[in-house]
Amino acid sequence: EELPSDPVLENSRRQVRNACFSYVTPKKTSNPSILHVSEEMRCELGLTKEDTVSKDFLEIMTGNKVMEGTKPYAMHYGGHQFGNWAGQLGDGRAINLTEVVHNSKRWAVQLKGAGETPYSRNADGLAVLRSSIREYLCSEAMYHLGVPTTRALSLAITGDHVLRDILYNGNAAYEKGAVVSRVAPSFIRFGSFEVLSAHGDHKTLKLLTDYTIKHFYPEIESTGKEAYVLFLKRVSERSLKMVIDWQRVGFVHGVMNTDNMSILGATIDYGPYGWLEVYDHGWTPNTTDSQFKRYRYGTQPEIVLWNLYQLANALFPLVEEVDPLENVLDEYQNSYKNEYLHMMTSKIGLFSKQSEDSILIKVLEELLQSIETDMTIFFRKLGKYKKGSFDQGVQIISDAFYESNDLKGDILKRWNDWFIMYDERLNIEILGDEERKDKMNIINPKYVLRNYMAQLAIDDADKGDYKLIDELYQMLKKPYSEQPEYEKWFAKRPDWARDKVGCSM
Ligand code: AMP
Ligand code: MG
Ligand code: MG
Repeated sequence: EELPSDPVLENSRRQVRNACFSYVTPKKTSNPSILHVSEEMRCELGLTKEDTVSKDFLEIMTGNKVMEGTKPYAMHYGGHQFGNWAGQLGDGRAINLTEVVHNSKRWAVQLKGAGETPYSRNADGLAVLRSSIREYLCSEAMYHLGVPTTRALSLAITGDHVLRDILYNGNAAYEKGAVVSRVAPSFIRFGSFEVLSAHGDHKTLKLLTDYTIKHFYPEIESTGKEAYVLFLKRVSERSLKMVIDWQRVGFVHGVMNTDNMSILGATIDYGPYGWLEVYDHGWTPNTTDSQFKRYRYGTQPEIVLWNLYQLANALFPLVEEVDPLENVLDEYQNSYKNEYLHMMTSKIGLFSKQSEDSILIKVLEELLQSIETDMTIFFRKLGKYKKGSFDQGVQIISDAFYESNDLKGDILKRWNDWFIMYDERLNIEILGDEERKDKMNIINPKYVLRNYMAQLAIDDADKGDYKLIDELYQMLKKPYSEQPEYEKWFAKRPDWARDKVGCSM
């Protein structure tokens, strides 16, 4: 209510000006049912178990009822998609229900897949079950991994069928419709600022920036230009932390367009994302990006910087000076190098800083990519390494290799040499083997949402069996713990899943 809204009160598609959002009405669904509720998110919002099994909850979280005293809205934003300015985008299939404060924390609750809005362009505003399962499971898993992220409260099917342009035997296919309720302190994106700046609407741009600072960056005490530069700096720091975490756990977002960059430095918009199984800087889960691979694992940190440039451009009218903005972006580059190295050394159990560490990491990265090596299994198993046993190093991590026959000749020799270097380096560390392992185990997850795991849950759900959703959900709550009952999920991707990647719609 502190920000200007679009005066037009209908869901029809249009170009919106001088506004941060448009009031809309969620679409009614024919036969909704809730498939899953996140206990952790439920508690964060101060809801009871009874609340979430009530008819009200079902109706509100699937678009059939609007809570009294609330006015749902879709947000206005633009964005750079795959490097090009795309103009107005906006919440085409997300509708914010309301904002709530619980335990002095502020949360916006939105429905993804609740029908068309002014921003739906040529699409239907709906979501299908498979992409909803993927978003629901992954966003909560990321939270438990300690990666900044939007959250999910509930996953529901709508009882409606949604037309998607996947052709089976030449026929268009209908899929089960679904709605995820997503939660975050705010869903404001880089693109929210860009669209206003692109329209020359500096008045609303200033209102939005002041609002964002007031509510989400209260630590910024200065005013005027200085505040806006500090704002960019804080967003840059948070985005850096986010992407370092992505690199640490092997998460590849897949569509890092500026409309998918949260102003809070949180992972947002789980579409064609994927998890590295084979460690490979060139990998992307996004099949529509397979030619240029703009959003591949290895370029994610650079893309964050590219996106920060777009945000800096958008904020320029409020600052009117290039240097202070550029300094912030230069700082990102410097801190990135340090933070990345620090993250990688911590993954291999090195907690002091030595000048040759960058070489040790560089050689490791090359080796990990020389033959197919499972990222998660490698780092987790490396925790078992014992000082002085460099001749057994390869043995300890051998489960991580997809083809053990590939491990021979020069590659085997290079691995053995690496373990000799690593062992020498460990001598400078003060931690003993057990302590080092414990510290590594809270940095290197044992359980992540491997692409095939989400796919198995989707295949079952298509047949009406939702048990696996809960099993994965429960397991992913404790990604760093040993969970003997879930040991089967600590395994390499099965062969059948080799070229199966994420889905985007
Ligand atoms: P994405 O790449 O998924 O972040 O989406 C880019 C833009 O397309 C955003 O403005 C979305 O709101 C919009 N969009 C994606 N899917 C749909 C859909 N099924 N209906 C309406 N808008 C959509
Ligand atoms: Mg998006
Ligand atoms: Mg999306």
